[in-house]
Amino acid sequence: MSFECVKKLPTPEEMREKFPLTDKLAQLKSERDIQISDVLMGNSDKFLVVIGPCSADNEDAVIDYVSRLAKVYDAVKDKLLIIPRIYTSKPRTKGVGYKGLISQPDPKGRIDHCLGLSAMRNLQLRAIRESGLTAADEMLYPENLEYVSDIISYVAVGARSVESQEHRMAASGCSLPTGMKNPTSGSLNVMLNAVYAAQQEQSFIFRGYEVKTSGNKLAHCVLRGGLTDQGQSIPNYQYDDLRLLLSLYDQREIVNPAVIVDANHNNSNKQFKKQIDIVKDVLNSRKADTDIKKLVKGVMIESYIEEGSQKIGEGVYGRSITDPCLGWDDTERLLLEMAERV
Ligand code: PEP
Ligand code: MN
Repeated sequence: MSFECVKKLPTPEEMREKFPLTDKLAQLKSERDIQISDVLMGNSDKFLVVIGPCSADNEDAVIDYVSRLAKVYDAVKDKLLIIPRIYTSKPRTKGVGYKGLISQPDPKGRIDHCLGLSAMRNLQLRAIRESGLTAADEMLYPENLEYVSDIISYVAVGARSVESQEHRMAASGCSLPTGMKNPTSGSLNVMLNAVYAAQQEQSFIFRGYEVKTSGNKLAHCVLRGGLTDQGQSIPNYQYDDLRLLLSLYDQREIVNPAVIVDANHNNSNKQFKKQIDIVKDVLNSRKADTDIKKLVKGVMIESYIEEGSQKIGEGVYGRSITDPCLGWDDTERLLLEMAERV
């Protein structure tokens, strides 16, 4: 391999020592983990809402955002279980562009993974401390998840990673609920194979060790729509899509069948405002069909302070520099309405 070793980075253990999770916060996280797993196992009727910016690009804006979420959460927590999206690594369709806080703590600055690892852990810690909410992040590079897996409460394997053995194996050893997204092609088969693989015991090489996993019984599906070769979005959140997923789950030996519907990406065709109608459509499908109600455990929404998106360098506080997001006012209204309808 022709890698140039730029810098030796701290291990996850060293980072946990440098930025420790206090006992009090660890207790809070374990309570939230139980609440979330109760939903996924069918022991609680709460509805999961994984919500927040496409990328956690700015510490202050993300903390401001999650603090706002925490206030709304007080009003809806009997019905909804809110999990902020604090996504610190971003996959790129063509492999170029902003790759998240873990690579570039300042999106306008240079790549610095050492600073990035500190920024990532510090942000997740600040968020739980200041909002009382534990977050979701994407497992983009499986080895990197260990830098925050003791703080967060939900993991997604993205559309570009879900067919990778490494991600599936790592998900099988992850003790957090792990959402396997459908790939960008839209294949439900690939997604369900990923869920199956993650639920099995596995043995593989990780960080220089031979490791064994016991299987992740909380691995589940996330529907995010697909894309044709001609660049056309094909949504997969509607009633018939959910019925189809139910029948496919029935044909497989997967425990805790569950799905989270991602309202943005190829479900909205990145028309971010459509997320509002998509979420309402999902709630209607749940109302109309008890099997769908059991299957659909929540939604994922891309939302930030200012709506839409901007280019890096435009500098609008709280506006996404990756996928376009719902703005705060729409977000607050939607959450309150969801709590009424769910
Ligand atoms: C995301 O959640 O921002 C994302 C990149 O999703 P996907 O993997 O579905 O494209
Ligand atoms: Mn996104």
